[in-house]
Amino acid sequence: MTFDYAPAPESRAIVDIPASHGLFVDGRFRPAADEAVFKTVSPASEEVLSEVANAGAEDVDAAVRSARKAYESWSALPGSERAKYLFRIARLVQERARELAVLESLDNGKPIRESRDADLPLVAAHFFYYAGWADKLEHAGFGPAPRPLGVAGGVIPWNFPLLMLAWKVAPALATGNTMVLKPAETTPLTALAFARICQQAGLPPGVLNILTGDGATGAALVAHPGIDKVAFTGSTEVGKAIARTVAGTHKRLTLELGGKAAHIVFEDAALDQAVEGIVQGIFFNQGHVCCAGSRLLVQESVADEVLAALKARMSTLRVGDPLDKNTDVGAINSAEQLARIRELTEAGEAEGAERWAPECELPSTGYWFRPTLFTGVTQAHRIAREEIFGPVLSVLTFRTPQEAVEKANNTPYGLSAGIWTEKGSRSLWMANRLRAGVIWSNTFNKFDATSPFGGYQESGYGREGGRHGLGVYLDV
Ligand code: NAD
Repeated sequence: MTFDYAPAPESRAIVDIPASHGLFVDGRFRPAADEAVFKTVSPASEEVLSEVANAGAEDVDAAVRSARKAYESWSALPGSERAKYLFRIARLVQERARELAVLESLDNGKPIRESRDADLPLVAAHFFYYAGWADKLEHAGFGPAPRPLGVAGGVIPWNFPLLMLAWKVAPALATGNTMVLKPAETTPLTALAFARICQQAGLPPGVLNILTGDGATGAALVAHPGIDKVAFTGSTEVGKAIARTVAGTHKRLTLELGGKAAHIVFEDAALDQAVEGIVQGIFFNQGHVCCAGSRLLVQESVADEVLAALKARMSTLRVGDPLDKNTDVGAINSAEQLARIRELTEAGEAEGAERWAPECELPSTGYWFRPTLFTGVTQAHRIAREEIFGPVLSVLTFRTPQEAVEKANNTPYGLSAGIWTEKGSRSLWMANRLRAGVIWSNTFNKFDATSPFGGYQESGYGREGGRHGLGVYLDV
């Protein structure tokens, strides 16, 4: 069944979205040199939210030049002065958090409860945290006089648009680098709102430039000879292409790529809590999470019990209006992403796995997908190997901890993993054997500005967050 979708009017009214947006270069907004534009739509309603400038090679060059010029004075500022700007930005983000959360939910499709309670507080936290480091870099453990690298180029995905911006911009600016940032083409609006916050905070022109555009804009940015460091978050495929582009140049590179996390539940776990963790692990942000717990490994002895509880809990999830505070699962970010989820779930059925989803009504317009579960999954199935990046959980079983480790590690990725057990010694035994950059025990999807985040293997290299997140922007 379907119903007509209309966004919650009281929330929609608090954002005033300009009909068109320019590029943010040298502290000002301006059209693309060739006046190219693209449209950004709300994935929940397919409403066109705004027309946005599409940056080409000439704009990339102008932005890099502006960042290069700004670097001379920004890198020479005492850290305490750079900190003042970053603290000001952090406070402005807090002041405008409600408006930014609504804008994020409109452009991305994520539930307002998540953008309000997870994304926005973490964005502010990253700016506060790195502002605090700006005048203490000589104590950060990277040698007595660490130096910034120069001009950084950041390319980010659409799943946490403003948070991914914060992960890159806050440490880059705190360490004295300047930056040119390219947001994803389906979610440019909060980055542009952030540009206005930078203006309001009096950030000197050129310290941060924001170029909206598509993959070609990103490719031109990472290839530009004036870039000294590339920070990329996105798919493994594009990450590899970027690694090839920067190979043989002086550029430093960090890659935060895809994942296929194992979420491991032992028979001795607090199963009711584990079920809640599994639901959060895969349905948070519609499963558009690089570290989503997309492979459930459950001990055979409790598999039936866990699956029954999981299905009951999934039946209570509310799918729908991202601006409704009661919504648990919002809209899929784009028609393209929806097609990819459909393709992989159809492959799951064709390969013999059993599909289950709760009955729920979906809106008649927009991009939607029911929270879905596959049982009877083997390690050979595509749904057990490939990143779906949607609200789809593949369930496998194991008998012994050793088997759990082997299955969990049977992936080219290595971003995150989760363990549910009441035995601390088992958690540590597992954590020492799992090849994943982040391992949660008796919780999942917990993020903190003070903790390094990043992957092993095809999930990328380098760390963002925490003290380690400074090191990738510094030379010793
Ligand atoms: P994507 O790789 O398609 O796009 C990411 C960004 O790269 C976008 O801004 C896009 O315009 C740009 N881009 C595309 N082609 C490019 C090229 N050739 N050169 C330079 N830039 C290019 O990824 P996506 O679909 O936007 O995001 C989903 C992916 O991101 C998933 O695989 C997810 O796991 C990953 N991700 C990883 C992390 C992490 O921290 N490891 C966090 C969030 C998302």
